[in-house]
Amino acid sequence: MPDAPRELLRRVFGYDQFRGAQADIIHHLLGGGDALVLMPTGGGKSLCYQIPALLRPGTAVVISPLIALMQDQVDALQQLGVRAAFLNSSLELGAARAVERSLRAGALDLLYIAPERLLTDRCLALLESIDIALFAIDEAHCVSQWGHDFRPEYIQLNCLHERWPQVPRIALTATADTPTRNEIIAQLRLEAARLFVASFDRPNIRYRVVEKANPRQQLRDFLRREHPESAAIVYCSARRRVEETALYLQTQGFKALAYHAGLPADTRRTHQLRFLREEGLVMVATIAFGMGIDKPDVRCVAHLDMPKSLESYYQETGRAGRDGLPADAWMTYGLSDVVMQRRRIEESEADERFKRIELHKLDQMLGFCETAHCRRQVLLHYFGETLEQPCGNCDTCLEPVETWDGTDAARKALSCIHRTGQRFGSAYLTDVLLGKANERIRRFGHDRVSTFGIGQRIDGRTMTAENWRSVYRQLVAAGLVAVDIEGHGALRLTEAARPLLRNECTIQLRRDPERQRSRDKTRAP
Ligand code: ADP
Ligand code: ZN
Repeated sequence: MPDAPRELLRRVFGYDQFRGAQADIIHHLLGGGDALVLMPTGGGKSLCYQIPALLRPGTAVVISPLIALMQDQVDALQQLGVRAAFLNSSLELGAARAVERSLRAGALDLLYIAPERLLTDRCLALLESIDIALFAIDEAHCVSQWGHDFRPEYIQLNCLHERWPQVPRIALTATADTPTRNEIIAQLRLEAARLFVASFDRPNIRYRVVEKANPRQQLRDFLRREHPESAAIVYCSARRRVEETALYLQTQGFKALAYHAGLPADTRRTHQLRFLREEGLVMVATIAFGMGIDKPDVRCVAHLDMPKSLESYYQETGRAGRDGLPADAWMTYGLSDVVMQRRRIEESEADERFKRIELHKLDQMLGFCETAHCRRQVLLHYFGETLEQPCGNCDTCLEPVETWDGTDAARKALSCIHRTGQRFGSAYLTDVLLGKANERIRRFGHDRVSTFGIGQRIDGRTMTAENWRSVYRQLVAAGLVAVDIEGHGALRLTEAARPLLRNECTIQLRRDPERQRSRDKTRAP
């Protein structure tokens, strides 16, 4: 029997070989099975349903929430000679009716459709009247109520299974953590579906995290040194920071543009187009930028603020190096990020369960920032994947982090929190430990507590304010200390701190951060 999928891959799409699990997925669908496909962005999910769409009788219905991208996808398919069309709110009535007519006439191989449109009675009736080759549910994580892309209509997509039990369904997503995966299976009734999980590793991306001191200057130095003429994306947490940073980079001689949802639509469009077309542009943006941006030669994605979860971090850094050539993911990170993210969670309207999940995700993100191990191993582990060996292409692999027995330091840091009443942030606590009798400390009488000045030396080593801030960050990341948002970033002890305070265990800390800074300075371009 001729290999029909392979033949189509060559003839229609012009590619020689299937990638990864594509061939298996296609054969599974052709055999009538359901599939859940977890594959990173750029992994080649589309072909997994486009080829079966062409080989099975009837029209394949592709459900996608990204209305803005449908037109592009359909245009691209039409150029290849595939009979594709889309239905969404951007179409004029006349155009929509024309699509419906071709659908009824059996003249379409693929129909892209927005979920809210699909769920209308009119559309469901229309689909009842035609042959359906398969249902592809793209961006399937939108069904997750605890994810950030939640779309209520996605939940109702379980009706597809009830109405068309014989039609194979394929759900696809690039969000692979286990809770989301389970939710997709449960909500879309995909219990019997075969699961295809591709590797999420992006070996050409070099991960680096540096301590946040003066983030804009750190960024400028990094870009000058390693990416003076590269296309780069710089993510900031807030619109104002986006604008300030873009302006700053411009004054420093970079071609930098700003992008966030508060800019007029035409400004956003021109900036996006310039980024795609011109060489060496730095796009400074909020996370509003990037969905569906297909620019293969982005050499660097920088984060001036820590993302809220490893999924976001992975998605955002994943926009670097799509062409497979070396690329950088670079981030500055400090305790202020923890405070900001915690505040965001506490102040959100969400219910308690949602907040707990968000806090848990934040902890995982912190663990990544503070790890002394290979960052890629930590990142992939979060996605349920095991990388046997350290990767050799992240900062901790390239310059292994020294660890030290931080038991004594940690205990002093913790008791300082305790002695000062769990009401102060790391900067204040550090001053107390270093014995700085400034006005504020004297006012509170903390120049007389037993921890005043006990942190000047640890094990014979002089301790700097940075050293102590690093200790506090690591204690937060390890869950021994919590950041109190009500108390404006005050640190307090958690239950987990008890064993250490009671001398029942020891703790290893990473040696931070002077090494990292000097490394930044000395590394040649
Ligand atoms: P995803 O939806 O997973 O982000 P796409 O389906 O958009 O990824 O594919 C990403 C890119 O890889 C596209 O440019 C696509 O044409 C290309 N691609 C997909 N499969 C193959 C293949 N087997 N051989 C070569 N290129 C491929
Ligand atoms: Zn590594």
